[in-house]
Amino acid sequence: MGTAAQRTRANRTITVDFRSEATYFQLLGDRKAFLECVLAFLLSLGFQLTHKATCRGGGCLTRHSHYVRVRLGGLTIWRIQCTRCKAVFTVLPHFVLRYRQIRPEVARDALMATHGGLSLELCAVIGHISPMAIYRLVCAFGHQSLVAVLTRCGLPLPTYVLADEKHSRCLAENVYLPTIVSGRVIWHLGYTKEASAAALTQSYQEFQRAAFQHEPSYRVRGVLTDGFDSTTKSMRTLFPGARLGFCLRHALNKLPKKLAAIASPLRQSLRVKFHTLLYRARQRKSLRAFALGQRLRHFADHVTQNAGLANGECIRRWVQDKKAGWYAALEDPQMPAMSTLLDQAHNAIGRKLFAMKGFHHPGGSQQAFLMGLAHLYNLVPYQRRAKHAGQCGVEVEGGRLPTRDWLLNLQILTSGGYQRAAETLHH
Ligand SMILES: [Zn+2]
Repeated sequence: MGTAAQRTRANRTITVDFRSEATYFQLLGDRKAFLECVLAFLLSLGFQLTHKATCRGGGCLTRHSHYVRVRLGGLTIWRIQCTRCKAVFTVLPHFVLRYRQIRPEVARDALMATHGGLSLELCAVIGHISPMAIYRLVCAFGHQSLVAVLTRCGLPLPTYVLADEKHSRCLAENVYLPTIVSGRVIWHLGYTKEASAAALTQSYQEFQRAAFQHEPSYRVRGVLTDGFDSTTKSMRTLFPGARLGFCLRHALNKLPKKLAAIASPLRQSLRVKFHTLLYRARQRKSLRAFALGQRLRHFADHVTQNAGLANGECIRRWVQDKKAGWYAALEDPQMPAMSTLLDQAHNAIGRKLFAMKGFHHPGGSQQAFLMGLAHLYNLVPYQRRAKHAGQCGVEVEGGRLPTRDWLLNLQILTSGGYQRAAETLHH
């Protein structure tokens, strides 16, 4: 079922770039040269193989066995084994997608079109590939966790994050996509049927678990949310020491809806006044809670004078409820003050989910599909006219990619048999 927590597959498949198919077939006949090529590729990536827990690597690799894949037109695939821990790694050449009959050229076009927001059905028309095949392809990449892939790129676990849920629909039901973003990278994209604190905690906990597995001392310093009660509660439960801030832009957008039965120009002028207040507060280098509290009180008085007692009271209660969160967002300069980048990620994912409506059914692999989309979001380079054109989110955040080819990167980075070499683990 789509809602079941998908565990990272303990596979030891590795994708290796053999440059050309001809080279691969040539190497198949030369045991020593084949192994040397694999090891040289590992070295160039700065990766190690994921040995068994008891093995520190360093053992000799032997070419273990080979088998013929009937589904791949009789292509020979080799497995290599660590002589020390006996872990077996399946070596997939770059021109083969794991468990798929689709050629990478076809997959590349279909995934790019999907990422661009074209429906799976239309991608299928262009690419002569069934919509279900594209769906399964995205799901296949989605079996590796975001934390595993991003840390393979050398990105440190994020200390300040944005967290929020996207509302979506699965047929007639409301569903939620709990999301954690840092800068231009999605670190978590979950799927829940409820918006309760318990359901959200369970989803966000998958991120926490993956992060602890990578770095047991991991701590989140600050979280920015829109102030939704369930999100706030789940963040408090999972990251007890973290500063919890509320998005300032969200507050600004919320203000006009709080003001009842007043003329539109007055509503607009109060919004401008509130905007100036928050803007000035952000500009101040050393802001004291007292100063912000005083300004917010003055603002509520101003509302009472101009928009009546009822509106003034409503704003006073709202301010009372949220000001600690606004102050938390303003107080620490490293804290993001606005959740704009998270909204952008949600809009991008939302377009794709809309485009794949036909596949959104209760028995689908929602979690794996979403994770696959998130990998694309992080790894596909931005378009020519975009800010950071030619770079992908991972690069913008300072991560290192294995190659210049995004699809090959996706294949390599979602290979379960790789991990970052020990000396590059600490930054
Ligand atoms: Zn080993």
